Amino acid sequence: MTKDIATPIRTKEIMKKYGFSFKKSLGQNFLIDPNILENIVSHAGLTKEDGAIEVGPGIGALTEHLARASKKVVSFEIDQRLLPILQDTLSPYDNIKVLHADILKADVATTIKEEFTDVEKVMVVANLPYYVTTPIILKLLTENLPIQGLVVMLQKEVADRIAAKPGSKTYGSLSIAIQYYTEASTVMVVPKTVFMPQPNVDSAVIKLMKRDTPAVQVIDEEFFFLVTRSSFAQRRKTILNNLTSQLPDGKAKKESILSALSAAEIDPTRRGESLSIPEFGALADALYPFFK
Ligand code: SAM
Repeated sequence: MTKDIATPIRTKEIMKKYGFSFKKSLGQNFLIDPNILENIVSHAGLTKEDGAIEVGPGIGALTEHLARASKKVVSFEIDQRLLPILQDTLSPYDNIKVLHADILKADVATTIKEEFTDVEKVMVVANLPYYVTTPIILKLLTENLPIQGLVVMLQKEVADRIAAKPGSKTYGSLSIAIQYYTEASTVMVVPKTVFMPQPNVDSAVIKLMKRDTPAVQVIDEEFFFLVTRSSFAQRRKTILNNLTSQLPDGKAKKESILSALSAAEIDPTRRGESLSIPEFGALADALYPFFK
C-alpha cells in the first residue's frame, strides 16, 4: 500500500513541493490523520461495487481512502491550483476522477449518470468547506439525486442543529429541512488537532441516510418549509405569534391561523421547538387553504 497523504509530514512535503498556500476563503483545512479518515469511510459502508462522490478533495487525503474502499470516486474541486497536485498525489489510483468545478454550480445528476453506470450505490463522502456546508448539503438533498446518503465532516455546531430532535435547544428549521429527506445522526466528534491548519471551531461527522419517502407527506413542500421557517423566526415567541407575524398577511388572518392550529390539534401557546415533523406537516396542510 502506498504511503498515506494524510500525515503531517507528507502534507507539509506536498505543500512545499508545489509552493501551495491555504486559502481560508475556500475553507481549506486538510485532514492529517489517517485513522480519522478510515473511520469516516467506514461509516459510509462502501464496498468495491459502490461509487463515491467527494466535495473538495484538497490534496487527496480522503480521496485515496475512498478509492481503496470503493469501485470509483468522483471528486469536485473548485481550486484550480490543486488539480496538478492531485494528479501527482493520486497517481497510484486508477479509479478516481477529479472534476474542476464549484459543487454548487455543478450538474451532479448528469455526472452520476455518466460516471456511475455500473455501481450498486452512490454515497457522498466529504470533509466539507465550512463556509458553505449548509448550501452544499441542501443542494445534494433537494436535487433528488440517485444517492443513498451522505457522510460529511462539518462544524460541530451545525451538525448539532442538523441532527437535533424536537424539544432540544438546537432543533430548528435546519433540522427539519434535512430530516425531512434523511435520517440524521452524528457519528463522530473530531478534535481540531487533526486538521492543518486547525479550524477555529470543533468538528463532527454526520451521517444522512436518504428516506424512501419524506418524513411527512404534505400538500405543498414549499409552503411546509415556509411554515417551519416562520415558526422559528423568534424562538421565544409562541407558534401563534410567529405565524401571524411571518406568514403573508398573517396578522389579518389570525382567526384562520387559530382555526388551522385547532384542526391540527396544536396548542397556539406552544413554541416551534416543541413540534415534531409530522405535527408541522399537519399544521402546514391545515394552513394551506388559507394561504394558497
Ligand atoms: N478533502 C480534503 C481533506 O479532507 O483534507 C480537503 C477538505 S477542505 C475542508 C475543503 C475543500 O473543498 C478544499 O479543497 C477547497 O478548495 C474545496 N472547496 C471549497 N469550496 C468548494 C466548492 N464550492 N466546490 C468544490 N470544492 C470546494
